[in-house]
Amino acid sequence: MAKRDYYEILGVNKNASESEIKKAYRKLAIKYHPDKNPDNKAAEEKFKEAAEAYEVLSNADKKAKYDRFGHAGVDDQGGFGGGQGGMNVEDIFEHFGDVFGGFGFGGGSGGGQRRSANRGSNIRIKVKLTLEDIANGVTKKIKVNKYNACNSCSGSGAEGGGFSTCGTCNGSGSVNRITQTILGRMQTATTCNSCGGQGRIIENKCNTCHGDGILRGDEEIEIKIPAGVGEGMQLSVSGKGNMGPRGGVAGDLLVLIEEKEHDSLTREGDNLYYDLSINFADAVLGTSVEIPTIGGKAKIKIQEGTQAGKILRLKGKGLPRLNGYGSGDLLVTINIWTPQTLTKEEKKTLENLREAPNFIPDPSKKEKSFFSRMREYFTE
Ligand SMILES: [Zn+2]
Ligand SMILES: [Zn+2]
Repeated sequence: MAKRDYYEILGVNKNASESEIKKAYRKLAIKYHPDKNPDNKAAEEKFKEAAEAYEVLSNADKKAKYDRFGHAGVDDQGGFGGGQGGMNVEDIFEHFGDVFGGFGFGGGSGGGQRRSANRGSNIRIKVKLTLEDIANGVTKKIKVNKYNACNSCSGSGAEGGGFSTCGTCNGSGSVNRITQTILGRMQTATTCNSCGGQGRIIENKCNTCHGDGILRGDEEIEIKIPAGVGEGMQLSVSGKGNMGPRGGVAGDLLVLIEEKEHDSLTREGDNLYYDLSINFADAVLGTSVEIPTIGGKAKIKIQEGTQAGKILRLKGKGLPRLNGYGSGDLLVTINIWTPQTLTKEEKKTLENLREAPNFIPDPSKKEKSFFSRMREYFTE
């Protein structure tokens, strides 16, 4: 089956901004969300189709390839594979958890993930990282105020561990009901109301936690953040959310990544960009300049006769890729500084050069536009 155009799927035009694409995707994802469309195969397909389109269009590199080569440019990129059924619904939540942030979807609380009566809720926190943190990976210790297991009763809620078997369900935690349906007698199991599905009842409630088995308090949590993460990504630390009551299990700690702006480097995907201003004389005569990199400096050579707009590429000096394979590049755009105030002498020197034959511009030798350079770069 021929695949639909990704822009068409999301209902945006080719010039749509990153946030427009994200917005369009979120709208579709919510509309076709499996929780809202139970057992609706068509909705599920639409949900997957939108996720596939978003996966490509939200990634600058893949988007550039798709814009140039269409589906052929991105189909071999792994991830969703051929699209049809390559990724299941849970994977999509895992992958795009951040898009659903604040909508109560994904991130472990919905999306068909495990749900237990005594599972504590997830906690969301934000962590702000510098580009240096992102380049190297970092371990953050963060104090989180949350429900923890009560020490006095080891989280059980019962003083001295005293329980008795629930009389309603005889300890099984569920009650069977027989109902008459058009298909005949059906037996369904429902959670026992008397014991909340636990099969046992507390004899004496713990004095410290009043039988809840949990108490609020601060816990310092170590969060290992891998190199290459980016703004809006969400990491999940399993079991570090709120503890569930009465011997339950803990939810997860969901860590939303925020990126601090760097003083001089700009990030785009795995690549870093630096705007270098050199003076006119250096551009004409050539020189070497020191530029900032992540956690250091690099010396670059400016060839004589360098035109404004030239982009120098420092291979591998970008950010490491999240998958662990290689790094992006550092792209240095050369701007030529035009002085705005001049001494009499400086002015005179320039006046003398105004009519000089080598100063007449030759349009055939000018740098290509930034846009066409980038296009070349992404299709190399
Ligand atoms: Zn019971
Ligand atoms: Zn207790």
